[in-house]
Amino acid sequence: MINRLVIIGVGLIGGSLALALRQAGAVKEIIGVGRSQENLNAALHLGIIDRAESDPASAVKNADIVLLAVPVAAMQPTMAALAPHLEPHTIITDVGSTKRDVLGYAHRHLPKHLTHFIAAHPIAGAEQSGATAARANLFQNRNVVITPLPVNDPAAVNAVSQMWVQCGAKVSSMTPQRHDEIFAAVSHLPHLLSFALVDEIAARPNAEELFAYAASGFRDFTRIAGSHPEMWRDICLANRDALLHELDAYQGHLENLRTMLEQGDGAALENVFEHARNARTQWLVGLSQ
Ligand code: NAP
Repeated sequence: MINRLVIIGVGLIGGSLALALRQAGAVKEIIGVGRSQENLNAALHLGIIDRAESDPASAVKNADIVLLAVPVAAMQPTMAALAPHLEPHTIITDVGSTKRDVLGYAHRHLPKHLTHFIAAHPIAGAEQSGATAARANLFQNRNVVITPLPVNDPAAVNAVSQMWVQCGAKVSSMTPQRHDEIFAAVSHLPHLLSFALVDEIAARPNAEELFAYAASGFRDFTRIAGSHPEMWRDICLANRDALLHELDAYQGHLENLRTMLEQGDGAALENVFEHARNARTQWLVGLSQ
């Protein structure tokens, strides 16, 4: 049982964690800290938090766990503001989509609290944002990756793992480097491509006509271009080197496809499509198990 949980950034992820822990009966009191009063009011109204605090310093008093659920670039000033006020027993954890940058900020701003800083990333989300988008089942059967530091207190790692298990999630761990490489390939690159396609089409003189005829294929490919621009700006910049690497690999593959098209090489194109379809089918089967 968590006696006092403080959530900094009561949006989709922070709000959903709060709702899931409440539903599991795993938390007594939840305090929300945020940027706009409007979002905090919504969180209060929806019963996501018990009270809102504007001052992070007083909010974290007597906290068991402090959850950082702001965009990754906002983690640094948030940690700097909290550092002098954290009590030795308080566990601090995050939900950021990138891990090396967040851990770098923790080393810089929380050097005395590193035993209790547990970095984590729930692999669940949606293109909606803010407290009104939060839902209790968001993490049900979804993965949460913890990227522990050698200095972490095992009891603190266990407390954060248990918090996510209470939300219905499956917890695993890996190094921050591996985490950022993997998510550059399977999350950050697809978002960049989706934003790029919609942006390019929207900038054309006949965009209105093109959108009028766009249907389910376009909608499925571009669903994630509806995601929060500020959050994705931060993620792309934070994981720039791994993302550039993935972008180069993808551009190389596009060049191959371009050559196949130019040469009218239908057999080669079909091979690529067949290989992709089989890989995707197998991936979906794995997801449903
Ligand atoms: P969100 O719905 O936009 O929520 C972020 C919250 O943080 C908002 O309530 C926002 O307040 C608040 N905030 C922003 N800047 C702040 C600051 N400087 N100080 C205090 N509060 C601030 O975003 P989210 O999807 O929950 O994402 C939160 C974190 O989860 C990010 O680090 C993201 O990388 C990670 N994550 C996201 C997903 C996903 O698919 N969405 C999945 C896994 C992890 P206002 O509402 O007042 O602007």
